[in-house]
Amino acid sequence: GSTDAEYDVLVLGAGPGGYSAAFRAADLGLKVVLIERYATLGGVCLNVGCIPSKALLHTAAVLEEAKSLSAHGISFGEPKIDLDAVRAYKDGVVSKLTGGLAGMARARKVTVVTGVGQFVDAQHVSVQDDKGQSQTIKFGSAIIAAGSQSVKLPFLPADSRVFDSTGALLLSSIPKKMLIVGGGIIGLEMGTVYSALGTRLDVVEMQSGLMQGADRDLVKVWEKMNAGRFDNIMLDTKTVGAQAREDGIWVSFEGKNAPSAAQRYDLVLQAVGRVPNGKKIAADKAGVAVTERGFIEVDRQMRTNVSHIYAIGDIVGQPMLAHKAVHEGHVAAEAIAGQKSFFDARVIPSVAYTDPEVAWVGLTEDEAKSQGIAVERGVFPWAASGRAIANGRDEGFTKLLFDATTHRVLGGAIVGTHAGDLIGEVALAIEMGADAVDIGKTIHPHPTLGESIGMAAEVAEGSCTDLP
Ligand code: FAD
Repeated sequence: GSTDAEYDVLVLGAGPGGYSAAFRAADLGLKVVLIERYATLGGVCLNVGCIPSKALLHTAAVLEEAKSLSAHGISFGEPKIDLDAVRAYKDGVVSKLTGGLAGMARARKVTVVTGVGQFVDAQHVSVQDDKGQSQTIKFGSAIIAAGSQSVKLPFLPADSRVFDSTGALLLSSIPKKMLIVGGGIIGLEMGTVYSALGTRLDVVEMQSGLMQGADRDLVKVWEKMNAGRFDNIMLDTKTVGAQAREDGIWVSFEGKNAPSAAQRYDLVLQAVGRVPNGKKIAADKAGVAVTERGFIEVDRQMRTNVSHIYAIGDIVGQPMLAHKAVHEGHVAAEAIAGQKSFFDARVIPSVAYTDPEVAWVGLTEDEAKSQGIAVERGVFPWAASGRAIANGRDEGFTKLLFDATTHRVLGGAIVGTHAGDLIGEVALAIEMGADAVDIGKTIHPHPTLGESIGMAAEVAEGSCTDLP
């Protein structure tokens, strides 16, 4: 290796957590190095996660909407799908964003080092590039932002027709029949894309419902709208084996809704969760504790058990979401710069960017029930929303949950088009301690889908007898 370069802050991993931390630290006057094994910045989210999936989901949504226009008196011919061009659109979106990040790093004088980083001790990281060249970098403080990767089921065969979300986003072909293993957000989003392009879907889920975490009343709306995309939704069921044959992947199942014989698929998407990369960075050499599952435990300033080494993002635990990683990154950078920053978010929103979208934040109704919290509900059905009806999409609803005593909003959930764009207002209301009157008396523009949030609060207000 060469002579040690020395930095105030070393950030390991350039995903949303890592680049946010690096940029904030640089803005606060610190000398920063950002280590990333891939050629582009942005991590999973920009390269193989949030962004390419949303580019494809946008294409799918426009395609579906165009088909639905016949009910408005406008008809098109059968869509012609040029898969290379679909892919190129998605890749263009990604490269615009990763290129933007590279420019932002240069503007802030953040040094980017490409290669795989591993701790040597509590003051040094060695970085090896793909030509086998290595260098050692000395740091004052470090921020571990090495993220996560998808879980691989051991019994699925190594075959190009079995892939994870990264493979699915490559969109190398449009299969006739695809199995989604795991009915969570990532699997269902990818299913939405493939289905719009013509694929028939099956999904298998070990638990008793799809989209775990969301209240069932929301998921029901999604299910009703999407029933036509699926041949078989296998709940309380798991895959137990698979065989790669010339004519397809033959998968066998066990459980409540398992078909008795093996089923044939052109493609199998495994989307059964993600594991943190904690065990792959030689954290022990720096004395940083890593749990059995590969997570790194941190305090509210994102500090690990080694006080000058921090960790953020997917590697510190659930929820594994980009917006959580970004905020944690800012806290870590500010703490290193000596500020009294803490991660004290009350709530972190979740969104399934399916069609319709399902979004929720804070307390859910299921949680209120299981924790014995008395809540007042305000539900506004989109069938009464002028905008939703005008859009031809009035299947959704907006639900707010208020503390039965203080009437402060504790949670909210929306199912419908653009639900993800709408849920931020509910998150803000919860963070600000708003009550039903605050939200209900806030004038929302008419006619918008966002109005439904004010309406849901008014519905709840109506049921709060002791309110002015
Ligand atoms: P990551 O983004 O995982 O980045 C970690 C980086 O560290 C990677 O670039 C990796 O190459 C690098 N790295 C790891 N080890 C080393 C090493 N030893 N040396 C050098 N570099 C290393 N979240 C949302 O909020 N919204 C969404 O819509 C959404 N959609 C998703 C869709 C898909 C298909 C997937 C897979 C995920 C999605 N997520 C979404 C989750 C989101 O991508 C993650 O929560 C987010 O990327 C986590 O950020 P991070 O900074 O912790 O780590």
